[in-house]
Amino acid sequence: MKARRILLVALALGMATQAVAAEPCDHREGFTLVLHGGYLDYEEEVGPPHRALFRRLLKAGGEQLAKGGSALDVVMDSIAALEDSGILDAGRGSIVNTAGFTETDASLMDGRSGRSGAVAAMQRLKNPIKAARLVMDKTEHVLFAGTTGEQTLIGLGAEAVKDPANYFQEYVPPPPPSADEPTQAEHGTVGAAALDRCGNLAAGTSTGGWPGKLPGRVGDSPIIGASTYADHQYALSATGVGEYFIKRAATRDIAMRAEYRGTPLERAADQVVKELIGKQDGAEGAIIAVSKDGEIVISSNGYGIFHGWVSQTGEIVVGTQEP
Ligand code: ASP
Repeated sequence: MKARRILLVALALGMATQAVAAEPCDHREGFTLVLHGGYLDYEEEVGPPHRALFRRLLKAGGEQLAKGGSALDVVMDSIAALEDSGILDAGRGSIVNTAGFTETDASLMDGRSGRSGAVAAMQRLKNPIKAARLVMDKTEHVLFAGTTGEQTLIGLGAEAVKDPANYFQEYVPPPPPSADEPTQAEHGTVGAAALDRCGNLAAGTSTGGWPGKLPGRVGDSPIIGASTYADHQYALSATGVGEYFIKRAATRDIAMRAEYRGTPLERAADQVVKELIGKQDGAEGAIIAVSKDGEIVISSNGYGIFHGWVSQTGEIVVGTQEP
């Protein structure tokens, strides 16, 4: 009751909460950054520009982490760059809904503190992931939605594009290689999961949504525990038919199977992505995950998920199928 009263007073006074200051750490050697560019129906959905972009961002993110940068900052910066690229289904390249305009969703979660921020059905934000960070750092809330939520966030400093109809240009992927392949390729929700040298984990996801979505539809990408989840042991980001990831509370379910049941992370991911969402629900989807020990898990119930990673060895790996 008391906490609620303080919150209400703070909001009434228009006070912003402060970001939690980074705790000092022993800067151990290990770090990991994993990026994804969405669920794949076939290899050709991603081309050389996608691979070059991932290599560039993994190099930059790896350098940031090597210097002691926080997992949260690297996840946000990487996703913001993917949003700006225009060649994935997030930020500038977002798909349009059935009414012909863009509505974006994004979320971000810090593993150690549990602090989270998310935005849904945004029409003018240049970088939904940066707005999610604003929600986390400058408000007592977790999720802002629709034009009213967007207006509040613009008031708090989120960047709006002047001419959304011209700025957002839905990226159209190359056609499938054969007529037998599915024709409605989804081309790249983006996400990141990272472990920093302080042992902190963070995850984030950003999207324009699933093809054929109705105006106002919100998917799993801005839902903490559905698409984005991070705690003291695991960080995950998902892509696929969001409705099923929401109903299954998918990324949190994977983390909890690993934590409470002791199921190996890879097995827990396969149980949720392949057996529940894939076989039982008949829905498409995939995840990336990182553990506090730097273990990387990629799980998909389709052709694959476009992904890449870097760790303290400096080696950069970019791929489309499970390793
Ligand atoms: N999960 C996203 C959504 O349902 C789409 C995707 O990841 O491809 O909005």
